[in-house]
Amino acid sequence: METNKTFTMIKPDAVAAGHIGAILDKITKNGFKIIALKYTSLSTDKAGQFYAVHSERPFYKNLVAFMSSGPIVAAILEKDNAVEDFRKLIGATDPSKADMGTIRNLFAKSIEANAVHGSDSDENAQIEGSFFFSAFEKF
Ligand code: GDP
Repeated sequence: METNKTFTMIKPDAVAAGHIGAILDKITKNGFKIIALKYTSLSTDKAGQFYAVHSERPFYKNLVAFMSSGPIVAAILEKDNAVEDFRKLIGATDPSKADMGTIRNLFAKSIEANAVHGSDSDENAQIEGSFFFSAFEKF
């Protein structure tokens, strides 16, 4: 299993607020190399599939509606220890608990509209990256 890749999305709230450039800048300045990048959107079906692991959670329906409410940016990032280091860079799920200077601290609006996604394991990074990108779209 690769340990040097993670998957991220810039979520609809941060895209709508005009934060794509600032977030990508923060990501690359922190040593992550972008090896795949796509401006796209999720249908409700696709968002439901992506977050299927949360299907029993009370916030699932709202989360699927939110994630399909507007365009997103999907990316695969490369760096040593990518998953753990990226989770540190984005901060806690709830932005009110995210450390100062983290992406969620700077750009997130709420626990749901929290600006970015970051994979939580090497295995999920691989699965999530492949959800959006073919082998021909990774460089
Ligand atoms: P993450 O790994 O930090 O993104 O957090 P989780 O995997 O636990 O949750 C996935 C996503 O669901 C989060 O990024 C939020 O967008 C949303 N979410 C998580 N917890 C809550 C919650 O308690 N309420 C709502 N409305 N959304 C939540």
